[in-house]
Amino acid sequence: MQINRRGFFKVCAGGMTGTTLAALGFAPTEAMASVRQYKLPRAKETRNNCTYCSVGCGVLMYSLGDGAKNAKPAIYHIEGDPDHPVSRGSLCPKGAGLVDDIHSEGRLKHPEYRAPGSDKWQRISWDDAIDRIARLMKADRDADFERVNAVVNRWLTTGML
Ligand code: SF4
Repeated sequence: MQINRRGFFKVCAGGMTGTTLAALGFAPTEAMASVRQYKLPRAKETRNNCTYCSVGCGVLMYSLGDGAKNAKPAIYHIEGDPDHPVSRGSLCPKGAGLVDDIHSEGRLKHPEYRAPGSDKWQRISWDDAIDRIARLMKADRDADFERVNAVVNRWLTTGML
């Protein structure tokens, strides 16, 4: 409910505090706006995409740490990016919980490789992982790419998750 500033102070003088009135919805817009604060003051904002599925919703990630040498960056809040052309600020429950995924103790942070027949995973570098993936994909494509006709050209032996 909207009341003007004069009415707001009259009611306050009658016994109710301004906070109580505001909580009940009896506050002028200007009064509420003047005390409202940006909810993520001094945060660093970074744009990214949700990594859970192929929809690729946009996220805004807020982290502590302003680049000073004694500040350790840490993401503490994630929300939908209203400017993202795919999701326009929306996130499903998985995307809305991304901050927990980032801080999960079980999160994999480095590429790992398991040799054929082995029961052990070994850590490898990003360069080694990307080189290996590229080499195997190229070999598979060269071996199995089908040129059926002028319209249908396909590569059916590789998929991605
Ligand atoms: S927020 Fe949900 S729908 Fe969007 S990319 Fe993430 S998992 Fe997919």
